[in-house]
Amino acid sequence: MTESTPTAEEVRDYIRAVDHVTAHMFLAAADSVEAFDRWLVAHDAEVQAERDAEEPSDQIMTLILDLTDPDDCSFDHHGGCQAHGYLSLKPGELCPQAEAKERLAGWVPAGQEGAET
Ligand SMILES: [Zn+2]
Repeated sequence: MTESTPTAEEVRDYIRAVDHVTAHMFLAAADSVEAFDRWLVAHDAEVQAERDAEEPSDQIMTLILDLTDPDDCSFDHHGGCQAHGYLSLKPGELCPQAEAKERLAGWVPAGQEGAET
């Protein structure tokens, strides 16, 4: 999980550290701890799904566009992309340049939506 989402154990440590009454109630009931763990795992998955669904900003996408090489990948027999210098790729791995282009494929720059005539 990310730094901003504490694990169940970190939350327990926090409760122990700041509030002895709550800590006693919380830690005394094993069922509550298990229920809390289940809730936290579900919550973590939800937070992660939201993050994964977030689209990068137009600024980031413009930057990716600027950094992307227009040339196609050219793989050697070891799987490395000779065209872009990613020589340590294994067969079947995607060149970051190809990945960036895939990411850009569905992207419409801000202010250009509906601009096609
Ligand atoms: Zn490549």
